[in-house]
Amino acid sequence: MRKRITVLGATGSIGQNTLDVVARHPDRFDVFALTANRRLERLLELCRTFRPRYAVVNSGEAAERFRAELQAAGLEETEVLVGEEGLCEVAAHPEVDICMAAIVGAAGLVPTLAAAKAGKRVLLANKEALVVAGPLFMEAVRRSGTELLPVDSEHNALFQCMPPGYRAGTRPEGVTRLFLTASGGPFRDTPTERLATVTPEEAIAHPNWNMGPKISVDSATMMNKGLEVIEASLLFAMPPSKIEVVIHPQSVVHSGVEYLDGSVLAQLGHPDMRTPIAYGLAWPERIPSGVQPLDLFKVGSLTFHPPDFKKFPCLGLAFEAAEQGGTAPAILNGANEVAVEAFLNRAIPFTAIPKIVAETLERLPAGSAQTLEEIVAMDGEARRIAWTLVRTLASGSSH
Ligand code: NAD
Ligand code: MG
Repeated sequence: MRKRITVLGATGSIGQNTLDVVARHPDRFDVFALTANRRLERLLELCRTFRPRYAVVNSGEAAERFRAELQAAGLEETEVLVGEEGLCEVAAHPEVDICMAAIVGAAGLVPTLAAAKAGKRVLLANKEALVVAGPLFMEAVRRSGTELLPVDSEHNALFQCMPPGYRAGTRPEGVTRLFLTASGGPFRDTPTERLATVTPEEAIAHPNWNMGPKISVDSATMMNKGLEVIEASLLFAMPPSKIEVVIHPQSVVHSGVEYLDGSVLAQLGHPDMRTPIAYGLAWPERIPSGVQPLDLFKVGSLTFHPPDFKKFPCLGLAFEAAEQGGTAPAILNGANEVAVEAFLNRAIPFTAIPKIVAETLERLPAGSAQTLEEIVAMDGEARRIAWTLVRTLASGSSH
């Protein structure tokens, strides 16, 4: 049966990779809705190609402009919706089968949760949504019985290596450890002293993956791997102490699952997000993704070594937040989003990112959060504190 898809964050790196896979299978998928924050010219192009029923933009003003553009292009069959309400409507719409959650940051939480509550198959790229609202999100998944399929390449690899019949959110039978691989990012071999002066351009130039700016900076600080530890512990119901981060510069082994009989199952492939996206779209079937076959002779050798927690303090901070649970991951994430934005705007040096996260976690004691409102409030509070720290640092450095 044909599946109808909503792509939240359609203009981003994951969104466009998703549409690349979808376009290869016009017999299987229809695009129901596309959403964007700022790149409306790109959204218009996507509307021209995929003719969605709905497009969602971020403000009433943008909607007015976008409606006029659709009309001028003869595309008035696409209806324009606005803001979080619009995102939730297209994520949970009765006619939708699959929701690709590819908004970046905690901004994606509410619509992703809406899709999960409505029982849609959720393809989860937006790791921050899970990190911020972990237990609440997983509870919504369990309650609605929705199919949650991780798109983050490591978690998709882990999912592929799980026992037959495995469903996200349950403790996998016979599994003793998860190996989470990491490329080490663009500064893997950069001397620690140099990190204070690296630029946003250097931080964004990832050696193996082509991604949006925020996750690229997270890869450079290794906060990305830290968020992924939290993500893995929630998705696979494993304690953080059973998750081993492994530096693997080639990014060919996307992660691995250790079983109690000594087996380690790993998933390999080119570092191309279309593989995990195609897997999620067609699961439990397999479909072509456009990714070339892996030539093991060309790959030659695979290497693995432990991460440097001293050089990349974000990784340790995330492990601590994962152990602590409650609102600690939300505080960690909120502070990190603020610090990354400030670094991208050249307000603070790269090395201030872990400092701001650590200081925010220290100032704001974590507790337990039962409701979405409590989580959103904690996220806001973490951001407020982090912005104060950014301003202090920025004014200090200009003297
Ligand atoms: P991106 O910056 O390229 O795209 C982000 C998308 O979200 C855009 O469509 C943008 O319009 C939308 N967006 C941003 N802020 C928004 C807001 N406030 N409200 C509504 N929409 C908003 O990011 P990306 O690299 O595609 O990453 C998306 C998510 O997928 C992130 O959570 C990231 O961690 C995760 N992810 C990405 C990759 C990758 O290869 N790019 C790999 C694994 C996981
Ligand atoms: Mg990843």
